[in-house]
Amino acid sequence: MTTQLLFREDAYLERTTAQVLAVHERGIELDRTLFYPLGGGQPGDTGVLIRASGERIAVADTRKGATPDEVMHVPAAGAARPEPGESVTLELDWARRYALMRLHTALHLLSCVVPAPVSGGNIAPEKARLDFDIDMSALDAARIERETNALIAAGARTETLWITDAQLDAQPELVKTMSVQPPRGVGRVRLLKIPGIDLQPCGGTHVRDIAEIGAIRVLRIRSEGKRNKRVEIALAS
Ligand SMILES: [Zn+2]
Repeated sequence: MTTQLLFREDAYLERTTAQVLAVHERGIELDRTLFYPLGGGQPGDTGVLIRASGERIAVADTRKGATPDEVMHVPAAGAARPEPGESVTLELDWARRYALMRLHTALHLLSCVVPAPVSGGNIAPEKARLDFDIDMSALDAARIERETNALIAAGARTETLWITDAQLDAQPELVKTMSVQPPRGVGRVRLLKIPGIDLQPCGGTHVRDIAEIGAIRVLRIRSEGKRNKRVEIALAS
C-alpha cells in the first residue's frame, strides 16, 4: 500500500491525523505520514500515535516498507497496536527531527566546502559526518568550520526540485555520493537546491533557510580508510 509522504512537501509539519491502513509484524502502516523513514544517512523519526481514546502508542523508529512509498511506524516494545481503519493523531518528536534537519542541511554545505567525492555519511541528533575521498593533508578543521559558518551566516533559502531519471542521467555530475545512488525507476528524482551553493539528489528533510542551522563545530577529522577521510560535525548551540 502507499503512504502519502507529507514531509516531502512540508518538513515542518509536527502534527497531523491519519488512518491506519494495516498493522504488520514490523510496523504500522498509515495512509499518510509526517514520520521520515530511515534513508540517505538520515535516521527514522520517532514520536507518538494517539488513538481516539487518548491512548499513546510510542513510535520508536520509522522504516521503509517493501516499496519506496511504504512507511512502517515501528511501535516501542510493549506498546499497543491500533486496528486497521482506526484514525490516529501523529505527533513527531520535533526537537529531535529539527536537530536532524539542521545537521542534514549542514552536511550539504560541508560537501561544498570540501571539494571531493563523498564516500559515506551519517546523521544523528547530536552529530553528523561525511567521509571524503581526499588526502588527509587537504582537510583543515579550522578552515572547514570557518567557511561552513560563513555560508550559514549569509543565509539562503533551500528549494526542492524534481527532475526525471533521464534528466539526472544527462547530468551525472549532480551525484556527489560514490556509495549511494539516488533511487531510480520511480520516474523522477528529488533534488535539494541551495541557490549558488549546492544542487544534488536528496530525499531527506532540510531547513527552509540555511541560517536556521545557526553555526557548526568540527568535532574531529580522522582517517577511516584509504577513501574515507571522516569529518564529524555538531551544532554549535
Ligand atoms: Zn539532503
